[in-house]
Amino acid sequence: MNKLLIATNNKGKVKEIRALLDDLKIELVTPADIHLSLDVHEDGKTYAENATKKAVAFFRASGLICLADDSGLEVDALNGAPGLFSARYSSKPGASDADRRTFLLQNLRDKPRPWTARFHATVAIVVSENDIRLVEGECKGEIIPEERGTSGFGYDPIFLIPELNRTMAELEMDEKNRLSHRARAILNAKPILMKIFDL
Ligand code: IMP
Repeated sequence: MNKLLIATNNKGKVKEIRALLDDLKIELVTPADIHLSLDVHEDGKTYAENATKKAVAFFRASGLICLADDSGLEVDALNGAPGLFSARYSSKPGASDADRRTFLLQNLRDKPRPWTARFHATVAIVVSENDIRLVEGECKGEIIPEERGTSGFGYDPIFLIPELNRTMAELEMDEKNRLSHRARAILNAKPILMKIFDL
């Protein structure tokens, strides 16, 4: 059976990527499934560098073909912040997703609305040390000052999709998986995976 390691410790991402790749005849495994615990230092200057770094580290540790996602939220009124630092965006150590949302809203408080923003995802697939493929996806929206919805993870409750008048956290996972940045990147990754695994 063809095996692909989803190279992330983020449970929200794993859930979405699993559902997005469900129709391919590939066995998807997570680091936890193979008792692999790795904490990759994300010090790259681009999403591509970080996604590659994560996928390569897990590839070296497992010997499996690996897929990693590096993603972030870019808010125009904050000149693209938190961007690459989305997972670490906070004023205090050990912060939760909720703390990061509060911190973001504090930083936006005095800025005129609408707070236009986008989610970005870069996905790296590592087949071997010399064979690394990259794909990207984006999703445009707007940050709103109050939380709405309980699905998803991260900044989802304050990220509005204006055309739907719903936040990402008000969408069922299959709805989010039709329009999110990660969904678009994985859609671009699918033909690549089909070739790699000869499907
Ligand atoms: P990283 O890719 O591990 O650096 O983490 C990306 C961070 O961006 C996550 O921890 C979230 O804070 C945020 N993020 C990425 N994708 C999403 C999403 O689909 N919904 C909400 N937040 C997201």
